[in-house]
Amino acid sequence: MNELRLSKRLEAVASNILEKSVLADIGSDHAYLPCYAFLKGYITNAIAGEINEGPYRSAVEQVAKSDLQEVIEVRKGNGLEVIAPNEVDCITIAGMGGTLITTILEEGKSKLQGVRRLILQPNIGAINIRRWLMDHGWQIVSETILEEDGKIYEILVADRGKPQANYSNLEAGLLLGPFLLKEKNQTFIKKWTHEKQHWLAILSNLEKAEMTNENSERKRELEQKISIVEEVLNE
Ligand code: SAM
Repeated sequence: MNELRLSKRLEAVASNILEKSVLADIGSDHAYLPCYAFLKGYITNAIAGEINEGPYRSAVEQVAKSDLQEVIEVRKGNGLEVIAPNEVDCITIAGMGGTLITTILEEGKSKLQGVRRLILQPNIGAINIRRWLMDHGWQIVSETILEEDGKIYEILVADRGKPQANYSNLEAGLLLGPFLLKEKNQTFIKKWTHEKQHWLAILSNLEKAEMTNENSERKRELEQKISIVEEVLNE
């Protein structure tokens, strides 16, 4: 992977960037995504945000190597603290857990002024992001699920709008994705069949354990998720 050739996962993130936008890529690591997006003509300029010194250095070096210092600024900081309100119109946050992405959005809420699109690629826990988007006025407009190197990734694209517009079944939609559950492609089936088996194994262990309040709550949650997944997979 480099600034001219992205992984399938990051390529799918890039393909959702708003045309001619000003981009902030948060947790940019090597800054491959903003460099690629500029070289492809998707964006006019970008900010690459990084919290850690090592990846921050890699991003600075990559931007210099590509001779893009005029259009891509690398900034060091936590989440959205590297941008000002109305500075960017599209944000990408990729390759982190859904809980961390949600924390970055929640802590940086005031910086989202002027932002028209969020492109979020959680490695796990997309449900947390979908809930946050729904509670904060963002409407999911498309979703992608893909497999690369044996791992399955989801990409959520959200614009400002009617948060619940695409949820016909809220609980199932939050867990599985309103678009993904309608499309129900092979990768989706593979992911949720595997998750269901994993939950069934946990459930069987819980049933052998002492039934504390905590265990029975956990059991109830698992049973609910298993039933949602079974219903969608069997439809
Ligand atoms: N976005 C790239 C991708 O998808 O390939 C890099 C993903 S890498 C696994 C996650 C990056 O996010 C790391 O470089 C890490 O330093 C950075 N990161 C983690 N928490 C962050 C935060 N709160 N703010 C900014 N960057 C963060």
